[in-house]
Amino acid sequence: MTPNNKDDLSLQIINKSLEFGASLAGIANVTELKKSPSHIIAQKIPGFLSTGTKQVEDKKQGEIHWPDNAKSAVVIAVEHPLGEPDMDWWLMGSKGGTKGNAKLIAVFSKLADWLEKEKQIPYIKLAYHIEHGAVFMKDAAVLGGLGCIGKNNILVTPRFGSRIRLRVMLLDVDLPSTGILNFDPCPDCKEYCRKACPQKAFDKKIYSGQEYGLNELPGRTGVYSRDKCKLQMEKNEANGKDVDIEGSDKKRREIRYCRICEMACPVGKSS
Ligand code: SF4
Ligand code: SF4
Repeated sequence: MTPNNKDDLSLQIINKSLEFGASLAGIANVTELKKSPSHIIAQKIPGFLSTGTKQVEDKKQGEIHWPDNAKSAVVIAVEHPLGEPDMDWWLMGSKGGTKGNAKLIAVFSKLADWLEKEKQIPYIKLAYHIEHGAVFMKDAAVLGGLGCIGKNNILVTPRFGSRIRLRVMLLDVDLPSTGILNFDPCPDCKEYCRKACPQKAFDKKIYSGQEYGLNELPGRTGVYSRDKCKLQMEKNEANGKDVDIEGSDKKRREIRYCRICEMACPVGKSS
């Protein structure tokens, strides 16, 4: 495939993702993704377990099991608008866990169908947890040109701030990354995200560039504490409630995980 054909295919994949319901989409090259900050640091950070990771027998924490044929990654984002907090509420036993995840799954299901039928490109389904074969989605999103990693340690996009959720699909076709954006709202910001954290998860420097051989550290400057954030998640889980489900006489557990550092970010709120 020539570089022009690759660019054309990337554009088609991005446009199809948007047509199928994604709010943003991009492509990350897997060779570059393997060298991205989260993928490097994950295996070096002790006690990497958090709400988004699981301990799996015989597998090292943070270790990625890249499929041999994975050459590029499609990354999509779905907006979680300010007025629709229920998109993020975790409902035990429901498809995808949240309404936002269900939407991401639906977009990828249509995209996978289109890739196979119209383009004869095999896709590789990804697990959600790293130890089961997932990848760090925020790094894929940066390479794909969706945004940058903010001082809140999550992706910040120009249009939706951090109020988005991501999903990644790997492809057996070698496409170049479609990022990186020339966008960084954090240096001139009053750090509303960090100040708002109820667990003070950004108050202390924990990681140094010297120790990990990296300039891009958790929370940008090495101040983000997974352990403190995890305490909040556990609190949220303990405060979960059994709620009624439409069309069913059974109740389900609903958990509203903390989004304070995400919601405090002013980026994209005026649009
Ligand atoms: S999710 Fe909540 S507890 Fe975790 S870092 Fe953000 S504000 Fe702090
Ligand atoms: S609140 Fe400010 S410092 Fe925090 S992520 Fe948003 S722009 Fe960056």
